[in-house]
Amino acid sequence: MKKVYFDYAATTPIDKEVEREVLPYFKESFGNPSSLHTFGQEALFSMDRAREEVARFLGANEREVIFTSSATQANNLAIFGILQGKEKPHVITSAIEHKAVLEPLKNSEAEVDHLPVYENGIVKVEDVLEKIKEETVLISIMYANSEIGTLQPIKEIGEKIKEINKKRKNKIFFHTDAVQAVNYLPCDVSELNIDLLTISGHKIYGPKGVGALFVKEGAKLSPILFGASQEKKLSPGTENVPGIVGLGSAVEKLKKNDIGQTKKLRNKIIDGILENIPGSSLNGDREKRLPNNVNMSFEGVEGESLVIALDREGIAVSTGSACASHSLSPSYVLLALGLSHEKAHGSLRITLGRYTTEEEVDYLLEKLPPIVERLREISGKGSKG
Ligand code: PLP
Repeated sequence: MKKVYFDYAATTPIDKEVEREVLPYFKESFGNPSSLHTFGQEALFSMDRAREEVARFLGANEREVIFTSSATQANNLAIFGILQGKEKPHVITSAIEHKAVLEPLKNSEAEVDHLPVYENGIVKVEDVLEKIKEETVLISIMYANSEIGTLQPIKEIGEKIKEINKKRKNKIFFHTDAVQAVNYLPCDVSELNIDLLTISGHKIYGPKGVGALFVKEGAKLSPILFGASQEKKLSPGTENVPGIVGLGSAVEKLKKNDIGQTKKLRNKIIDGILENIPGSSLNGDREKRLPNNVNMSFEGVEGESLVIALDREGIAVSTGSACASHSLSPSYVLLALGLSHEKAHGSLRITLGRYTTEEEVDYLLEKLPPIVERLREISGKGSKG
C-alpha cells in the first residue's frame, strides 16, 4: 500500500543530511559540554556552531539564543520569565494560540486578553493597540497558526509596540511563537521588532525534543527551572547535544524548502477539493496562510472518520493540531473563526512539506471525494442518501 504523509505541521521527517550530522553526537562525540576534557570541548564546540547557525538565521547575536527541550519549554520560559516578579501583569494574546502559549497563561496570575481573529483567522493590529494598558507587560501572538496556517501581522504589531515603548516607563515585551512559520517566512528579529521568539526542531526536518528561544539582549528573564548553570541558567540540565546540533543543521538547511512548489501543490489541493466535493469549504484566509496549509470543512462528515478512512488508503492527515486531536471536543481554533460545532467537527488539516510530490497530491484528490461521499451516505447526509 502507498504511504503518503500530509501531516507536516504535526512533525517532519528528519532531513538526511541533518541525520548524518547528528549521529556522531550519539556515538564517538558523546561528551558532556560542561566537561573540560576534549570530549566535552568537542560537544561544546558543536553547540557553539549550532547557536551561530540559529542566530544567523534570526539575524541575532549568539548570546541571544537559549536552547530548550522543546518549543513548549521555550514558550513557558518566555511567558513566566517575563511575568515573574511583576505586579498585576497584563498580557495580550490571541484566541488561536497553540496550547503551549494558552496553558502557561491560564496557569499564571496574569490578567489575559484573548484577541478575536474573525472569520479569516487573523488578529487586527488595532485590536492589539486597543487592549494595551499601563499594566501590559507581554504581547504574545503566534507568527503562523498550526491548524489553519493563517499569518499574523507580526511586523506591523512589532513596529507599533516599538513606537509605544518609546513613550513608556515599563516596557512591553513582544513574543512570537514562530514554530510553524520558520519553514516559510522571514524571521529576522530586528526587522520584525521581536523581543522573544520560539522555534522547534521537529517542525523543520530536525530532531524532536529540542527548541530554542531568542531572547533579545537586555530582556531580563527569570528562570522557571532550577539546577546547574547551562544556557545562562535559563534552561538548566545537561544539554541535548545531538538535538541541538540537529536544530542548528536543520535551520541552516531551511533554504531547501521550495516555497513556490509547495504553494502550487497546496492550491491544487484546495481547488481540487472545492471543485469536486460539494459542501466543502476552506477555513482561514485563502491568501494570508502558510504555503503548506490546507484546512477544510466537509458538511455532514466527521473529521475523525475522514482521518481513519484516509489512513486505510495510506494517507496521513489530521483533524487539527496533533496535540488537540487527542480530545473529541471541536477545535477551539475553528470555533474562534465562528464555525458551528458541526462544521468544526467536520474539518481536516492537510499539510504539505519538502518531500510532497504532485503524484501524492493526485492520489489524495482521487481518494478523498469517494470517501466523503461514502461517509455522507452512511450518516444519511449523502447526495443520494
Ligand atoms: N507552537 C506551535 C505553533 C506548534 O505548532 C507546536 C507543535 O505542535 C508547538 C508550539 C509545540 O512544539 P514542541 O513539540 O516543540 O513543544
